[in-house]
Amino acid sequence: MPIYEYSPDSGQCDKCPGHFEVMQSMGAAPLATCPDCGQACHRVISAVSHSVGKGHLLAPKSLESKGFTQYRKAGDGYYEKTAGQEGPDVIHRG
Ligand SMILES: [Zn+2]
Repeated sequence: MPIYEYSPDSGQCDKCPGHFEVMQSMGAAPLATCPDCGQACHRVISAVSHSVGKGHLLAPKSLESKGFTQYRKAGDGYYEKTAGQEGPDVIHRG
């Protein structure tokens, strides 16, 4: 499953300051609200192209409770699973 980046519409959020990442299936509808704070958000198209350390991680328990699987960029093309039951522990892209 691909990893999508989202940003809150307002650009301001205490929990996800301008950026968070969620793993979703291709057919899944884009999130309309932040799963952490409930604020309106939108999907950022240029997924997984940012440098290491830019992304903000949502609280794993918050994600798991909503059925999400979250990955954290661990290096060039590598992603480690930080929350959720689905998917492999490590993803290698490219
Ligand atoms: Zn938020």
